[in-house]
Amino acid sequence: MDRLPAARRFVRRFVAGPALEDALGVAARLNAAGVDAAITHLGENVATTDDAARAADAYLEVLAEIGRRRLRAVPSLKLTHLGLDLGDAVCRENLERVAARGLATRTLVWVDMESSAYTDRTLELYRRLHPTYSNLACVVQSYLRRTAQDVERLIEIGATVRLCKGAYREPPAIAFPDKRDVDASYARLLDRLLSADALARGVYPAFATHDERLIARAREKAKAGGVTADRYEIQMLYGIRHDLHATLGAAGSRLRVLIPYGEDWYGYFVRRLAERPANLAFLFRQLLRG
Ligand SMILES: Cc1cc2nc3c(=O)[nH]c(=O)nc-3n(C[C@H](O)[C@H](O)[C@H](O)COP(=O)(O)OP(=O)(O)OC[C@H]3O[C@@H](n4cnc5c(N)ncnc54)[C@H](O)[C@@H]3O)c2cc1C
Repeated sequence: MDRLPAARRFVRRFVAGPALEDALGVAARLNAAGVDAAITHLGENVATTDDAARAADAYLEVLAEIGRRRLRAVPSLKLTHLGLDLGDAVCRENLERVAARGLATRTLVWVDMESSAYTDRTLELYRRLHPTYSNLACVVQSYLRRTAQDVERLIEIGATVRLCKGAYREPPAIAFPDKRDVDASYARLLDRLLSADALARGVYPAFATHDERLIARAREKAKAGGVTADRYEIQMLYGIRHDLHATLGAAGSRLRVLIPYGEDWYGYFVRRLAERPANLAFLFRQLLRG
């Protein structure tokens, strides 16, 4: 893939570039257009403690550059990038280093959700660290059957929560196989996270989706409940539905775009292909032309 120019061009649709500078440039451009940013250094399932420590160092650099350039941006990281496969202690130490720096600079640190093999450990670490690092934010996935329960527990602690549909291949025993059920689950969880009770407990919800119906639902539910635009946000991925940015901005919604950068783009890229077959067809056409 790396050696084919047509494939490289297509990867660049979803990934800002190999270097942090690439992501920072995109973040600055988005900020200028009124859009906030989240920056992800691509990587997951590292095999050594050195790699895990390097990933945490990269996020410290992300935080330093966000501060230096006064960007409206936050980091968004994966626990398996910080060494979750190497044990909770390794991962926790790395996460605390990043969370502590974020706390000192009053910057949220978003902890992505990965496959269901990590859901319990990710939420457990989040719950354990949340009292110390109120700047930590977590993610739940509407395709998992368990998520309604997880959301209740997160509401209890007034969490900052990103709601997404979920991007991993999961068995039907634990995840809804039918997209309609995933969307319906998303709608129910959205309503719950925007309920007066959740907001009164300090919940700050982020609705990560490009699904126009669900974005409209969040906006309508917020409006009906008198929830002001600073109490929640819409999140999208770099390279997807940029056409919606201006409309959302004009409507007064707070929008954040997640910008990935780095060399280790394969896993992220494949998930973007898998969730939209048209992308695969487009990629094949480009490759044949190339
Ligand atoms: C900010 C952000 C953070 C995320 N973090 C996580 C996470 O931590 N864990 C996790 O499992 N998942 C995460 N995701 C991914 C998410 O779970 C979905 O896989 C992804 O957002 C696609 O679902 P959708 O909600 O956009 O709805 P869909 O119904 O899949 O898509 C709605 C519309 O969006 C557009 N679209 C969606 N995906 C693509 C694509 N790949 N290429 C082109 N167009 C597309 C299409 O127009 C489509 O009709 C995140 C998503 C966002 C936006």
